[in-house]
Amino acid sequence: MENAVCEVCKTGRRENKFIIETFNIDGRYVIIENVPVEICSYCGEETFSVETTGQLRKMPDGKVNESQHIEAELFHYKKVS
Ligand SMILES: [Zn+2]
Repeated sequence: MENAVCEVCKTGRRENKFIIETFNIDGRYVIIENVPVEICSYCGEETFSVETTGQLRKMPDGKVNESQHIEAELFHYKKVS
């Protein structure tokens, strides 16, 4: 089965990949790895399926116990000369 053509650029095709995504939920940063996503091979547009979006909303509410505390640094984007 061929992947769907991207609706954004109408050039690339969407490929199934797994990424690490950071979410800010009520000021709490949550990093979720292994998130299934479709990424356009041409413009890089990421699309989560409806199912994935639903799962991602539920995960940080304690419905998934497999979490790990890690240390992370948070930067605000700033131009450095
Ligand atoms: Zn595209």
